Amino acid sequence: MNNFKNLRGTVDLLPDQLIKWQNVEKIIIQQLFRSSVKEIRTPILEMTELFMRGIGEGTDVVSKEMYTFLDRGERSCTLRPEGTASVARALIQHGISTRPSQKLWYMGPMFRYERPQAGRQRQFHQLGVEFVGYESVSSDIEIITLAWDILQKLGIKELNLEINTLGDHIDRSNFQKAFLNWLEVNKNSLDLDSQRRIDKNPLRILDTKNVQTKKILKGAPRLFDFLSEKSLERYLIIKEKLKILKIPFIENFNLVRGLDYYTHTAFEITSGTLGSQATVCGGGRYDSLMSQMGGAETPAIGFAIGLERLIILCGSELEETRETDIYIVNKGRHAEILAMELSRKLRNFDLIAELDLSGASFSKQFKKANKLKSKSIVVIGDDEAVKNEFVIRLFNNDNSENKEETISIEDNINLEKWIKSNLILDKNL
Ligand code: ATP
Ligand code: MG
Repeated sequence: MNNFKNLRGTVDLLPDQLIKWQNVEKIIIQQLFRSSVKEIRTPILEMTELFMRGIGEGTDVVSKEMYTFLDRGERSCTLRPEGTASVARALIQHGISTRPSQKLWYMGPMFRYERPQAGRQRQFHQLGVEFVGYESVSSDIEIITLAWDILQKLGIKELNLEINTLGDHIDRSNFQKAFLNWLEVNKNSLDLDSQRRIDKNPLRILDTKNVQTKKILKGAPRLFDFLSEKSLERYLIIKEKLKILKIPFIENFNLVRGLDYYTHTAFEITSGTLGSQATVCGGGRYDSLMSQMGGAETPAIGFAIGLERLIILCGSELEETRETDIYIVNKGRHAEILAMELSRKLRNFDLIAELDLSGASFSKQFKKANKLKSKSIVVIGDDEAVKNEFVIRLFNNDNSENKEETISIEDNINLEKWIKSNLILDKNL
């Protein structure tokens, strides 16, 4: 008996579920390609310090969500909880962080030790996009638009884009002083979690989900009122441009994002359909990350989409897959090898060709072809094999009589003709 089970918070994705995942990934990758965003792949495992420095020790992610362990060489390693720090590390390490204008994406598993619930896992997947070396307001707009358009391409409706600005470091520290004074006075009215954050990461208190704390926070100083003229202007232009592009948004002054490295623009895309784990995409500007990690000052902006939540939002039309083009029924010693030869040839025509490997009776093989809803069928018995030929016909077709043809195994011209007039070739296969 097998008692093994997957670890809590991890999930097996089975073939039927993966049809949707693959369709979603394909649409995303196409859209990224069209936008000249290039892929980068970094290791899943990194030095723990990378995340402590990159994400910040006061954050929830670093202080309580990381999968950290010592390897056999006593080095502290961590399974990546997010992708931005690794991308920054890779660019700095390879001396390319200051190359102008790099648009990058990555997709893959992330690990956070959290309480598993709908839309929240311990191993989950993110698509991340980072525009490195981009400072302009237009780059903020372009990245928000890219996230928005990916979600539109996937047919997801009823999304809310929330934006905010965190200002620059000076704005933030001016605000933080005032906020800390206010927190000192109001400390006892806050929930315990928020109280704990006062010393560690006071800005995060703004992001609380505690209803009572939320109410009290309404009386707190607002970061918005501490923005310099320059920061404010930047933010106003962003709003203006989003309006021109007809991308609907709402302003959320409490949107602070969980990671320490953000400045200026912060945004999230949420959906009411997701329940309490509503955020499908989170992003923002992180102009100081590169220098914080030992690289040169390099402005950058990015976002990450949670793929599990995204899949929940995508409609069932993405669960459809391409059906088998040709099912090859074969029986007999000579027929089997001929069928194998033919299956390889058919796949070179960009067709899905499935070879029956069962050696079962013809009728059983026909049933299998039927079940698969194969568009056409090839039949090779030893009678055909001796003559070095096969019968090919459209399946489930009223005119099947007319469409049946006997073709010699060497007759590529006629085979191609038959395929081209009866099946659709798919170059993407
Ligand atoms: P949340 O507030 O939901 O914890 P977050 O601010 O920690 O999100 P980010 O670090 O911004 O999330 O990650 C970007 C996206 O990745 C989130 O918007 C969400 O869609 C997804 N995500 C984050 N953590 C998880 C998780 N544990 N399980 C599934 N998806 C997740
Ligand atoms: Mg989180």
